[in-house]
Amino acid sequence: MTPRIYVGQDVHALAPGADCALPAAAAHHVAQVLRMRAGDALTLFTGAGGEYSTTIARVERREVVLRVHRHDPIERESPLSVTLVQSLIAADMMDWVVRKAVELGVAAIAPVQSARSQRVPADRAARRVEHWRQIAVAACEQCGRNRIPEVLPLVAFDAWLEAHAGSLRVAILDAEAGRSLASLFAAEPPAAVAIGPEGGFTAEELRRAGERGALPAHLGSRVLRAETAAVAALATASAIAGDAR
Ligand code: SAH
Repeated sequence: MTPRIYVGQDVHALAPGADCALPAAAAHHVAQVLRMRAGDALTLFTGAGGEYSTTIARVERREVVLRVHRHDPIERESPLSVTLVQSLIAADMMDWVVRKAVELGVAAIAPVQSARSQRVPADRAARRVEHWRQIAVAACEQCGRNRIPEVLPLVAFDAWLEAHAGSLRVAILDAEAGRSLASLFAAEPPAAVAIGPEGGFTAEELRRAGERGALPAHLGSRVLRAETAAVAALATASAIAGDAR
C-alpha cells in the first residue's frame, strides 16, 4: 500500500496540479524514517474528508515537496457509530486498545477513570489524551481511515454516565451479565460500550450504571482481559451490525 500521511488542515495548496511542502514533522518522517525519494507515491489526508494522491517532487535537507495529483473523496468509516468507553488500564495496554479500536472502526474513544482504574494525576491527563490522539492518527494512517476518531478528555466513569447514559444506548460489559453483547447489537445497536479496568467494575458501579439505563452485556463464558474485551466488543459490533457483517 502507498504510505499514507496525515497532514492536518494547516497544509495549503492541496489542489490537483499544485506543489506543496509537507509540514516539518511529516517531512522528517517521510525523508528520514520511511526514506522515501523523489518519484515515490504518497497518499495524504487531512481528516476533513477523502485523500490526495501525490508523488514526491523533491526531497531536500529540511523540506519534502509533493506534486498533488487528485483528491479522492473515499471514506472507510464504519456505518455503525460506536463510542468505546474505556476504563483506564496499564499505559501500554491502553495504547494498544486505542490503536485496535481505531482499526476496528470506533467512532470515538472516551477514556474514563473508574473505581478500580489506574490513577492519572490531573496535571498529566491532558498529555495522556494527546498521546492517545497521536496513536489514533497513526492507526488511521495505517488502516486507511480518512477521518480521525475523536479521543475525548479523560473523565470519571460516573461523570461520563451522568452526561450520556440518559441520551445514549450504553452497553456496560460484565462477564456476569444475563444478556450477550451480540444480542444487544442484533436488537438495536448501542451507541457506546463501556469496558472495565483490569480489576473489573465494582458492584456499585454496575448498579449505578444500571440505574442510569446502561445495559449489562457479556461476551461469552470466559473472563477476558480488559484489552481483549475492548477488541472483542468492537469486533462483535462490527460483525453483527457494522461493515464486517
Ligand atoms: N477480575 C475482574 C475481571 C475484569 S476483566 C472481574 O472479575 O470482574 C476487565 C473488563 O473486561 C471487565 O470489567 C468487563 O468490562 C470486560 N470483560 C471481560 N470479560 C468479559 C466477558 N466475558 N463479558 C463481558 N465483559 C467482559
